[in-house]
Amino acid sequence: MQVSRRCQTLKPSATVAVMNRAAALKAQGVEVLNFSAGEPDFNSPDKAKQAAIAALQANQTKYLPTAGDPATRELIARIITDRNRIPGVTRDHVLITAGVKMALYLTFQGLFDLPEPGQPARELLLPVPAWVSFAPIAELAGAKVVQMPTTTAGGFKITPDQLAAAITPRTRALLINSPNNPCSTMYTPDELRALARVIADKARTTAPDMVVVADELYQNIVFGTVPFMSIGACPEIAERTLTINGPGKSFAMTGWRLGWVSGSGPFGKAFIDALTKLQGQTITCVPAFSLAGLRAALTECQDDIDRMRAEFAARAELIHALLSALPGVRVARPIGAFYAFPDISAHLGRTSAGGRRIAAAADFAAALLEEHTVAVVPGEDFLGDGPKHIRMSFACSQETIREGVRRLGEFISGLK
Ligand code: PMP
Repeated sequence: MQVSRRCQTLKPSATVAVMNRAAALKAQGVEVLNFSAGEPDFNSPDKAKQAAIAALQANQTKYLPTAGDPATRELIARIITDRNRIPGVTRDHVLITAGVKMALYLTFQGLFDLPEPGQPARELLLPVPAWVSFAPIAELAGAKVVQMPTTTAGGFKITPDQLAAAITPRTRALLINSPNNPCSTMYTPDELRALARVIADKARTTAPDMVVVADELYQNIVFGTVPFMSIGACPEIAERTLTINGPGKSFAMTGWRLGWVSGSGPFGKAFIDALTKLQGQTITCVPAFSLAGLRAALTECQDDIDRMRAEFAARAELIHALLSALPGVRVARPIGAFYAFPDISAHLGRTSAGGRRIAAAADFAAALLEEHTVAVVPGEDFLGDGPKHIRMSFACSQETIREGVRRLGEFISGLK
């Protein structure tokens, strides 16, 4: 008896593996400094919690319309129109789903088919390093993932020329994640406009049904160096852009499991209708009382966002300064999201003080956890240049950052 090939070949999340090992050490009474979790260490805003509690007490405990209740869809459409400046978005262009992961899952299911025997798969262009789940979720839908390499020196961004060269008739989608997990870099508005021009141009010739999937989950966690812009705001590609967002990171609401996907214009509406059908055959809808909390978060909790953003910005400066001072460590300045992604490749091939051979980032992370009880995510699963890096989430206190980087320094000076 066997499970499906789909499940057998699916990769478990690397981030979750580190979190499990750190939890096991903690259970043995070991004090672990945890830089692995991709979630804010803050509590959800009080007003969101109170609104959800009130909704429960008012018995908002029944099924909702599949795509979410009209008032919340309307509110999200208004934000996308006014703040993100994406044209052609009404409430009928918004599907509310169970977290951004589910929004991505449904979106890729809506874009890709399993390839016919003997036919090439349609392609997802994925700038790498990239968040660990993009490729597995796209592959589950039948996509072939084409990695587009980026580097520390290039700010982990693809260039218009690189994009033009990568687009073929097999291209179905380009993924843009700005601010980015794991690199914490962002595209400038001009860079996004230049990419949009390439896409619009190629759509006229080579790739007529190409779309952009824009994961903008970290939209509100930006530190002022580069202004945030939605690529869907570029009019020439608005209708071929699917924009994904959610309250998990910027409102500290990861466990509420909420997210949404929006389209624009006639294609956007047809696409959201198709995904709504898929949602109707999977999770049915999200809980009504959680949407009451979401509405409060979106309308009454700007102070909470601002406070958390300011703290993330201070931590970004601190961890960047401390890491930059370590020998053999190169790190880009985090300008959005909450990750530092240092290049530790100068230390590969060495041996730790505890006698562990450090051949790869995975060995580096494992030895650092075992010998100095600091949990970081090794870069391998982020693809591309990832294996030269470790990812350190700074969704933890400044005190933890100081002590964690001190121990990292101690670990590095012990390498032989
Ligand atoms: N996209 C990116 C870029 C992420 O970093 C994450 C979470 N780490 C997700 C999507 C998943 O978000 P959610 O928890 O809302 O499913």
